[in-house]
Amino acid sequence: MVNDRMFVELLLKVSREFAAALDLKTVLTRVLFAAVHHVGGERATIIVMDESGNPVESAIVYGNQVRENTTGQLRETIDRGLAGWVIRNRKPVLVPDTSKDERWLRREDDHVDKSGAKSAICVPLMAREKLAGVMTLVHPMPRAFNDEHLDLMRAICDQAGVAILNARLFTESQRQARVMTALAESAIAMNTSLRVEQTYDRIITQTKQVLQVETVVLGMIDPSTGNIFFRAAAGPAANTISRRMIKSGEGIAGIVVREGRGLIVSSVAAETRMADAERASGKVTALLCAPIHAQGKVIGVLEAFNPLGKNFDTDSLLVLTGLGSLAGTVIQNSQLYERLNSAHQRYRELFEDSIDPIVITNLDGRIIEANRNAELLSGYSGEELRQFDIDRIHIPDPDKTGKNLIGIGRTAIVYESSLKDKNGIRHPVEVHVHKVLFDEVRSLQWLLRDISERKEVDSLREDLTAMIYHDLRSPLANILSSVEMLGSMASPHEQESAESVLRIAHHSIDRIQRLVSSLLDLSRLEQNQPVTERKVVEVTGLFYDALDAIAQSAESRDQSLNNKLAIALPQVYVDGDMIRRVLINLLENAIKYTPQKGAIEFGGTHEPGSEWLTCWVQDNGPGIPEESRETIFEKFSRINQKGGPSGLGVGLAFCKLAIQGHGGKIWVEAAKPRGSRFVFTLPVAQIG
Ligand code: ADP
Repeated sequence: MVNDRMFVELLLKVSREFAAALDLKTVLTRVLFAAVHHVGGERATIIVMDESGNPVESAIVYGNQVRENTTGQLRETIDRGLAGWVIRNRKPVLVPDTSKDERWLRREDDHVDKSGAKSAICVPLMAREKLAGVMTLVHPMPRAFNDEHLDLMRAICDQAGVAILNARLFTESQRQARVMTALAESAIAMNTSLRVEQTYDRIITQTKQVLQVETVVLGMIDPSTGNIFFRAAAGPAANTISRRMIKSGEGIAGIVVREGRGLIVSSVAAETRMADAERASGKVTALLCAPIHAQGKVIGVLEAFNPLGKNFDTDSLLVLTGLGSLAGTVIQNSQLYERLNSAHQRYRELFEDSIDPIVITNLDGRIIEANRNAELLSGYSGEELRQFDIDRIHIPDPDKTGKNLIGIGRTAIVYESSLKDKNGIRHPVEVHVHKVLFDEVRSLQWLLRDISERKEVDSLREDLTAMIYHDLRSPLANILSSVEMLGSMASPHEQESAESVLRIAHHSIDRIQRLVSSLLDLSRLEQNQPVTERKVVEVTGLFYDALDAIAQSAESRDQSLNNKLAIALPQVYVDGDMIRRVLINLLENAIKYTPQKGAIEFGGTHEPGSEWLTCWVQDNGPGIPEESRETIFEKFSRINQKGGPSGLGVGLAFCKLAIQGHGGKIWVEAAKPRGSRFVFTLPVAQIG
């Protein structure tokens, strides 16, 4: 046996030998050979374990030979055998006769008729006070090992523990480094473009290269249907597979999307869940699929088919998963970029093509950009405009924009003002100004809508109103008084015939006066001018005044006028003359559009407590088709009736504005059994 000096020399030798290798397999074989060689025995086994106690690697040496062994087979030994006992107790053990020790797991060759009893030594491999594995040494003869052998074995194992741990950590770090390098390189390669299509291509080319596979496809989820569309593919089957689709939830891709993590299909032959599109990439043997994640959501999948070298392992999955996450960010960035770009492009087009002049300034009012129409209206070229501040062409209204333009935010401020052109001519403009991002810089957008035409129409309208007022109304009043005077001047024998002529003249003047007043009101009400001449009046009185004006026409058409006014109606607070004209309009229409001998009805009711009184004028004429019941209240709108009575189409428009000017409502319904019923509401006068 060895003496002390030899012992120390031996240890030095083995520790050097162990430390010289960093590859786990090599270290294990060296340790095993050292044990067999220096301690004795014919078979030595090592099981290496990770921090959680799972076997991660193993090795067996038989005499001079290394035997292949799968780590899985060793599970039983760890759970129940001698090695298991050592792992649990963290103590070395010497078994002089395996047939007499219960901890020994009997195997085929342990039976008496074969090699029978043996002796064994089993020692835990410790490194930095943690269990790194277990080593067993077996001798074919019982009682071949003694305590000295045990000590030697322990000494070897002390050296081996650290060497194995180092090798394991080295392998692990190398693996991680490989994955990290692959991902880092991919990140750089994928990020070289910001165009979505190019980004897809970079991703698949990179994936194919890093994973060393035959084919790679990239599928994106359609957010509305959940279906996955293959957007890009690389490899021999790229053409057949790209542009294919996997229905939502189907295939391996469907599982990956649902679970949000990658999946390895090592043998496609036994796999039933694959989608047709996934099988379309030629002859598929193995498949790897990982989700493309962006902001915590799965937006697509990466699928890799048929590894060129060894099988897909967990590392491949790790790499593909990493690529999937990278791809998600890269795709999203390029999508955002494209969207931003096209929004920018759209804004530029809108800006240039806008029919309104637009000027962009910085926050101090310095002009940065002006569109074609701004050049046209101002008479300056774009280059000239860019030399100016906004107040060269338009002085902002400080009440609206604030001093120094500080009041301008994201919502547009609108006001009317003017634009001074190169020749000093002022154009009326409606200004819409608000803050915008122009070429990524916070700026102000000034839309200066040319309202010269509208202003012209406005002044025309004012002229017309003035004309109606002065040039029509006052002469009409003069004619009326002259006619009245003529009546009193007639000699007694002419009195009767004069009176009938004068009545006709009177009636016609009335009509013209009403029309003039209504046109005037229409024009004012359209400009939202309030109804100011309001008084407390009896609604019944207004009806009777209106009837006076139309009774003759009804009589001449043999039409009946039926009064349905409720008794004791409350007073209303209205412009009496205006409402009287509304009533005349409705009654005249009823007479006009109802055949001879027709029946016309009018009335008014009031619900106790209500602030509104409801009035109506009804006829049994042709009625108004449902689709026209709103539009007939629009100006110049008439229902096309060939040969029907003529008109201007302003009567009902006036009625509507007049009633609305009083806060009320007006509408038309179908009367029963036929005809139309115009209904409107008037405000009840508040007492006290
Ligand atoms: P006008 O009578 O001058 O044409 P209105 O504004 O008074 O203009 O009426 C608009 C249209 O509504 C008329 O052309 C007519 O077609 C329809 N209308 C109005 N009142 C009646 C009614 N009582 N019965 C049937 N149609 C009517």
